[in-house]
Amino acid sequence: MSRHYDYLAIGAGSGGIASANRAAIRGAKAAVIEANAVGGTCVNVGCVPKKVMWYGAHVAEAIKYSPAYGFDLEQKGFDWETMVKNREAYIERIHGGYHRGFQGNGVEFIEGFAKFVDHRTVEVDGEQITADHITIATGGRPMIPNIPGAEHGIDSDGFFALTKQPKKAAVIGAGYIAVEIAGVFHALGTDTHLLVRRDRPLRTFDKYITDGLLERMKQDGPTLHTETTVQEVTKEDDGTLTLTYKNGESLTGVDCLVWAIGRVPSTDKINIEATGVDLDADGFIQVDKYQNTNVQGIYAVGDNTGAAALTPVAIKAGRQLAERLFNDMPDAHMDYEHIPTVVFSHPTIGTVGLSEEDAIVKYGAGNVKVYTSSFAAMYNAVTPHRALSYFKLVCYGPEEKVIGVHGIGEGMDEILQGFAVALKMGARKSDLDSTVALHPTSAEEFVTLR
Ligand code: FAD
Ligand code: NDP
Repeated sequence: MSRHYDYLAIGAGSGGIASANRAAIRGAKAAVIEANAVGGTCVNVGCVPKKVMWYGAHVAEAIKYSPAYGFDLEQKGFDWETMVKNREAYIERIHGGYHRGFQGNGVEFIEGFAKFVDHRTVEVDGEQITADHITIATGGRPMIPNIPGAEHGIDSDGFFALTKQPKKAAVIGAGYIAVEIAGVFHALGTDTHLLVRRDRPLRTFDKYITDGLLERMKQDGPTLHTETTVQEVTKEDDGTLTLTYKNGESLTGVDCLVWAIGRVPSTDKINIEATGVDLDADGFIQVDKYQNTNVQGIYAVGDNTGAAALTPVAIKAGRQLAERLFNDMPDAHMDYEHIPTVVFSHPTIGTVGLSEEDAIVKYGAGNVKVYTSSFAAMYNAVTPHRALSYFKLVCYGPEEKVIGVHGIGEGMDEILQGFAVALKMGARKSDLDSTVALHPTSAEEFVTLR
């Protein structure tokens, strides 16, 4: 038996689903192949379960602040299992929504692991499937370091699989995932240690903003260990882990170790060699701005291309590809400039455009002007947990074109989107200044900076 499609996506994650649906909406006979749960990383072991848990942490913080607002609450405890159960039920409903979407659009969902046979053919459970256009949307998976005892730790997938709350956790890594997981653990009451090998987490972010994060971590936790490299993990007789650092010091009594040191592309098990598609040295698929690989009729979108590993990026790239192939839009492509991004830290970080450091490298210090401000958001300013939010604009040239918008503070995740539109439209500082502020909000800081 064999099937043929106009369009076939390998991987039903953010990019594969979006592209297959759009292809079918534009009239193509489309299918998507998935080896695991529909929705991919974002829905099952990424954005969605993470944000549910971030909301859980947010509730915990609100309870902490509540006495200042006059509440006298008796908190009997926190049940990790209940949060996980409700989170998974929510994810199950999302799965249903995807399947209804496929049915409505006429996309065939094929379960199984796809391997290439040649550049037009994949095999799934012994069946050969051919297509005129094939998109590799296989995403990525977490990395574990090659040190003795590393296997005693879990990765972010393992974090979402936890059914019990750990008492003492060590999270190792310095990117989004490490910061977000450590923040959730800590807010929910786990004794949490974030171990970074350099001077701070999120080193590529604007320093003003990460200084703010360091200050908030110092005030509220988790416990940050900088310049700390773990060289061995040992399991003790009582089941706890000891982490031994390069400098000989150690962290003991850890009952949950999470590695969050980056992700690798899932391109190594799909027999990609049979297609002749070029990969870079790290296994990422080489694509041009139209998502074309070097092999005609084969494309790639999302995390396995080495582009910003964000769900909306994979979705937009997938949809634009489908528009180009099936809607007579020969120039449709994803614009990889000015991608806004949020870290669900405590509080959240929002950023779009260049950091001050990168702007100076690109344009020279004399052409870059920055505006900054910090203030205690009303929400926590009335509590004993008063803490600062930080805002920064990076501007270029005599017209003061806004080329970077950065913030850390309560609500920054929701604030940033509109400012990302302004930046993409080429807003100048004077455009922000001429906009009437919304008061009292944190967002108004961005239009009142002096
Ligand atoms: P994926 O979503 O990874 O989908 C790939 C799919 O392909 C998977 O379902 C996989 O099972 C399947 N697959 C692989 N090989 C095969 C094969 N041979 N045959 C069949 N199926 C196959 N991004 C955000 O924008 N916001 C966030 O808040 C956010 N939080 C995150 C939190 C965590 C913990 C993680 C890990 C990621 C987070 N991300 C977030 C990133 C986001 O999840 C990814 O950028 C996004 O999922 C990438 O989509 P994709 O389509 O490239 O790949
Ligand atoms: P990242 O690549 O973002 O960060 C990992 C960091 O860990 C590295 O930058 C490095 O920082 C540090 N590191 C690397 N190797 C080691 C090591 N051996 N020991 C200790 N530290 C190490 O990876 P993540 O896994 O955090 O996230 C992957 C991607 O997923 C993100 O880049 C992001 O695009 C996406 N994501 C998005 C989210 C969102 O939108 N909110 C949330 C989660 C993920 P250094 O060099 O400074 O030590």
